[in-house]
Amino acid sequence: MTTPDNCPAADPAISLLCDLIRCPSVTPEDAGCQQILAERLSRLGLRCESMPFGDVSNLWARRGDNGPVLCFAGHTDVVPPGNAEDWHSDPFEPTIRGDALYGRGSADMKSGLAAMVVALENFLAAHPDHGGSIALLITSDEEGRARDGTLKVMQALAARDEHIDWCVLGEPSSERVLGDIVRIGRRGSLSGILTVRGVQGHVAYPQLADNPIRRFAPILNQLHEIEWDQGNEFFPPTSFQVVDIRAGIGFPNVTPGELSARFNFRYSTEWDHERLKAAVDSLFDAHEMDYELNWHLSGEPFLTAAGKLTEAVSAAVAEHTGKPPELSTGGGTSDGRFISPAGADVVELGPVNASIHKVNEHVRMGDVITLTSMYQRIMELMLL
Ligand SMILES: [Zn+2]
Repeated sequence: MTTPDNCPAADPAISLLCDLIRCPSVTPEDAGCQQILAERLSRLGLRCESMPFGDVSNLWARRGDNGPVLCFAGHTDVVPPGNAEDWHSDPFEPTIRGDALYGRGSADMKSGLAAMVVALENFLAAHPDHGGSIALLITSDEEGRARDGTLKVMQALAARDEHIDWCVLGEPSSERVLGDIVRIGRRGSLSGILTVRGVQGHVAYPQLADNPIRRFAPILNQLHEIEWDQGNEFFPPTSFQVVDIRAGIGFPNVTPGELSARFNFRYSTEWDHERLKAAVDSLFDAHEMDYELNWHLSGEPFLTAAGKLTEAVSAAVAEHTGKPPELSTGGGTSDGRFISPAGADVVELGPVNASIHKVNEHVRMGDVITLTSMYQRIMELMLL
């Protein structure tokens, strides 16, 4: 009873994907996904270690004691489905329509997890004596705060001197067709949380007040107009966006005493967060203004240089699609930001991302089956 009643294909990856979708693992809940995966992986001879931190479930599974370590990584948590009535079908009941399987997490990223596990089953059946080690790193804290997930597992591994050489993340990297895009890095993400203090007053007596909107407006203009960089071979130009500005007490003849704002930089490897902060701080300091600026770093940019892993992933994709993928650094942050700093090469290859985080999230079933073959090919190219 693992596939939907109307499932035409008894494919093992589709069947496992259905089991995972049925677990309502809204972040940071794992809702039983990792137990399903751990049972499968234990049967394959992987040592499965549960590494919970706070209310987050993490799973580290490894087969082999020697290097190099090829790790497949991903997350079991999903974003909330929103209003379930907006869905054509229950978001936590896998449902097939046409050639697609619908359900929250079907694309982001339970299909990646199902494909990894079945690829590993196929790989080990054919090559039980592979070289190196193969591992899986799975968390339930990617969509939420991302503090007790991959970051903490990487710290725990580092503390006992355990290393990952190559990592394939199953995040939905593809845009139009499976394998058209493989991510080889990500931009950094740095947020500024600003408070500007002024003096509240009567709108008719500005000389008795100090309007923080007026103070901040020219700086905001500068932040928008500066060309932070032109990007480079692998990264688009650094972008500045304002997320939120609020001030005012909601009354027509009162000017505000305080302004708060939040902004974000998505930045290329032309910057690191310290230099970017310093550049913004000096811009603020050039103006007379009573302000407080706090920073939140989500992740430094990272880039995986061309090498054995990028070649293997490109070859595995090209064998199935007839075309090598575009190697890109676009998109949002991912847990790759926690794995790469430990010295691992990290790439992301997963299904089409057009429906992720939306209502009626879905994945083409044929893509899940092909992705499984691609992952298996990567294992062969890296460990044989
Ligand atoms: Zn994801």
